[in-house]
Amino acid sequence: MATGGPGGTMSIHALHDDHGRTVRYLRLSLTDRCNLRCLYCHSNARHQCIPHEKVLRYEEMIRLVQIVRGMGVGKVRLTGGEPFARKGCDDFLLRLRQRFDDLDIRITTNGTLLEEHIPLLQRIRISAVNLSLDSFDRETFARVTGRDMLPEVLRALDAMLAAGIRVKINAVGLRGINDGQLADFVHAAMTLPVDVRFIEFMPMGSDTLWSPENFWPASDIRAAVEQHVRLVPLGDANEGQRGPARMFALEGGKGRMGFITPLTNHFCLSCNRLRLTSDGHLRTCLFADREYPLRPLLRHPKVTDEHIARVIAQACKSKPVGADLLAAR
Ligand code: SAM
Repeated sequence: MATGGPGGTMSIHALHDDHGRTVRYLRLSLTDRCNLRCLYCHSNARHQCIPHEKVLRYEEMIRLVQIVRGMGVGKVRLTGGEPFARKGCDDFLLRLRQRFDDLDIRITTNGTLLEEHIPLLQRIRISAVNLSLDSFDRETFARVTGRDMLPEVLRALDAMLAAGIRVKINAVGLRGINDGQLADFVHAAMTLPVDVRFIEFMPMGSDTLWSPENFWPASDIRAAVEQHVRLVPLGDANEGQRGPARMFALEGGKGRMGFITPLTNHFCLSCNRLRLTSDGHLRTCLFADREYPLRPLLRHPKVTDEHIARVIAQACKSKPVGADLLAAR
């Protein structure tokens, strides 16, 4: 493969690290801005928006995708902030698809602004939409997110299913907040063709609201779910154990349920991700503070794609094992 960019072509470097892992997946934050204020999200606590001039332009993001595409990354997830809160998001998605016909494109969204974008998501053959939805109860939704917008999210959910888009609902398990509402989540997974996945509340950042009182371990969530429905483990052949979620079919149900256990049973040794912040900092691990500033390289007229690729490869090489960092805190 050869790429353009200022002054150079480049050969393929696969992104291997010192723990035998190969990076194939980029999480790209389109913006740090969000229209919700979820109580578990540490970015709310430090909510000083990144000035516009520091946010990567869409063409810079496309250049970066092109560089990592040449290094074996086949899957890109757009996230934020709230990706649909950034102007021009649809046009960017379209350009991404036009440029990379075989790229696995996914998006993570709170769903509040989603409905009008669904035809475009269909058009670009989005692989799946991860919908963050921590409660089907309007009051609890407003308490968790700071906004009374559950009806908008449920409308978008219905519209996605009608459009045949694959949906994964992600709920952060919060003891004392949504732990009394499992029946709603089980009902969704029974009646809709969706994956409903619980994520353990992670202590992110120094200003986190995380505490042992509101931490709800996935083993407890699973036991509570099993009060409602029989869970049938899915093997690898069903994509049950690929990725961070342990997935289950539901006896008699249309959907599936799963558990993501970053704290009680980490999956760091199979982590294949890189993250890029909206202001162009590369992060190789969610739990590591170390960032590699790529924006100055992208904006320097003499820096080639090859040079940026080398910086990314070097950063990946020392990708840490996040669980070790957490344990040392
Ligand atoms: N705004 C988009 C959304 O709501 O999906 C994308 C960004 S948001 C930070 C992505 C998701 O990360 C959240 O909805 C939640 O599922 C997860 N998340 C954020 N902070 C978390 C935490 N402290 N513990 C567990 N999951 C968290």
